[in-house]
Amino acid sequence: MSNSIFCNFIAGEWVEGGKKAIENISPADSKDLIGLYAQADKEQTEAAISAAVAGQLAWQQSGLEQRYSVLMAIGDELITRKDELGELLAREEGKTLAEGAGEVYRSGQFFHYYAAEVLRQMGETADSVRPGVDIETRREPVGVVGIITPWNFPTATGAWKIAPALAFGNAVVWKPANQVPGSAWALTEIISRQGLPAGTFNLVMGPGSEVGDILIHSRKINALTFTGSLETGRKVAAATAVNLVKCQLEMGSKNALVVLDDADLENAVECAVGGAFGGTGQKCTASSRLIVTEGIHDRFVSAMIERMKKLVVGHPLKPGVHIGAVADARQMEQNLSYLELAKNEGGTLAYGGDVLIEDTDGYFMTPALFTDTTNQMTINREEAFAPIACIIKVKDYQEALDTLNDTNFGLTGGICTTSLRHATDFKRNAKTGCVMINLPTAGTDYHVPFGGRKDSSFGPREQGTYAKEFYTIVKTTYIRA
Ligand code: NAD
Repeated sequence: MSNSIFCNFIAGEWVEGGKKAIENISPADSKDLIGLYAQADKEQTEAAISAAVAGQLAWQQSGLEQRYSVLMAIGDELITRKDELGELLAREEGKTLAEGAGEVYRSGQFFHYYAAEVLRQMGETADSVRPGVDIETRREPVGVVGIITPWNFPTATGAWKIAPALAFGNAVVWKPANQVPGSAWALTEIISRQGLPAGTFNLVMGPGSEVGDILIHSRKINALTFTGSLETGRKVAAATAVNLVKCQLEMGSKNALVVLDDADLENAVECAVGGAFGGTGQKCTASSRLIVTEGIHDRFVSAMIERMKKLVVGHPLKPGVHIGAVADARQMEQNLSYLELAKNEGGTLAYGGDVLIEDTDGYFMTPALFTDTTNQMTINREEAFAPIACIIKVKDYQEALDTLNDTNFGLTGGICTTSLRHATDFKRNAKTGCVMINLPTAGTDYHVPFGGRKDSSFGPREQGTYAKEFYTIVKTTYIRA
C-alpha cells in the first residue's frame, strides 16, 4: 500500500481530511495495513451537506436516462470487480473472501434493480370531488439524504441506501463506519467517475460521535437513513425528531430459529449453522437463539456438534475457510464476555468458544454452541453479534412461537418443519419483519422489502419498491383546465 491518503469526496473533489487520517488495519492480520483514510472535520462535513443541497436540483433535472445509465454503470462495475473489491472487503472487515465477493456482487444487483426503478416512476390521477377539476399525485425527491452505515456489511448497506437515493433524484452525504472505510472509498471512487453534478454524492469519513453527530443534527438534511446499533439509533431518532427530519432506522436483533420435532434434521442443522455463524455471527439477521422442541432436541444437538467440527476458522483470504476474523478488538472482547456470561448464567458450553492463535496476528474464535439456556437469560435477550448460538428447549410448537416472540427485537424469525399447519401459523404469528420457513434467518433478496419490528426497525421499509416511501415525497396537484 502507498503512503498516500484515501480522501473524502466533497462537492465533486477529493479532499484531505481536516483531522489526522486513521490507519485501516485488517482484523485478521495486524501487519496488514490497508491504507490511511482521511477524517473529515466539522467544516468539511458541513461543506459536504451544503454541496449536496446545491447539487441535488441539477441531479433531479438530469433526466431519467442519465440516472438509469449511471446506476447501471455502477452496478456493472461492482459486479465485474467483485473478486478484487471482495478481497478488500474481506481484508478490512474479516469475513471470508467468498462472503466479501458475494456482498460486492449483491451490491451491484442493488444498483441494477434501482436503475430499472428509475424508469418505473409512475404517478396517479384522480377526479376531484369538484366538477371540472383534475388531480395528479406524483413522487418527488425528498432532497438531501444523509446515510450512516455500520461495519458489518460495508458495501451492501451503502449500496442498498445509495442506489434508491440516487434513483429517485436525491443528493447523498455518506458517512461509513470508521472500521471499514476502504470499501466505502472504493464504491465512492466508482461513483465519482459517473459524471454526476458536483455535490450530488459526498463521502465524509470519520467517527460517529463527530461526523455522524453533525449529520443527524443538520437542518439541511431532509432525510436520514441509519443502520447500526439500537443505542445509536435512539440518538439518531431523537436528533432528527427535533428538526422534523424524516428518519429510517435499521438496528439490532435477537433472531430465533425454531426447530420442530418433524423438521428435516439435516436441513435444520444447515439453517442453524448458516444463520448463526455466517459472517462470524456479525449479522443483524443472525439466529443466535435456537428454539428446539424436546422430541428432536438431543439429535439436533449431536448433529450440530458434528457439523460445527467441520467448520474451518481462519484468515479470511485462505482457501477453505468458512469463518473469518472477528471484526476488531472491541468486538472480540464483547464476544468473550458474552461467552463468560452464558456460562455464569447456567448455560452448558456444548462446543467451541475457543480463541484461536493463527499464523497471522488477528481476532479468531471457534463458533460456540450452548445448551440448557432459557429465554430469560441475558445471553438470549441482548444482541451479542458473535458466533455464539444458544439452544432453548421447549415442549411444543406453541411454546416455541411464544418464546420466539418474547423479545424486544423483531427483524427475522425462522422455522424448520414439514408441517404445513405449523408453517402457516408461524408465517402469520411470528412478530418479525421477515419470516423464513426451512431457510436460515440470514440471507435476503434484493428486490423485496427488508426490515423488522419493535426495537429492530423504525420508519419506512428499505429495499424493493417500498424504498420509495423513504426516498420520495408525494405532491398532490389540482388542475382546473
Ligand atoms: P454503531 O451504532 O456503533 O455504528 C453505526 C454507524 O453509526 C457508524 O457509522 C457509526 O460511526 C455511527 N455512529 C456512532 N455513533 C453515532 C452518533 N452519536 N451519531 C451519529 N452516528 C453515529 O453500530 P455498528 O457497531 O457499526 O454496527 C453493528 C450494529 O448494526 C448491530 O447492532 C447490528 O445489528 C446493526 N445492523 C443492523 C442491520 C439491519 O439492517 N437491521 C444491518 C447491519 C447491522
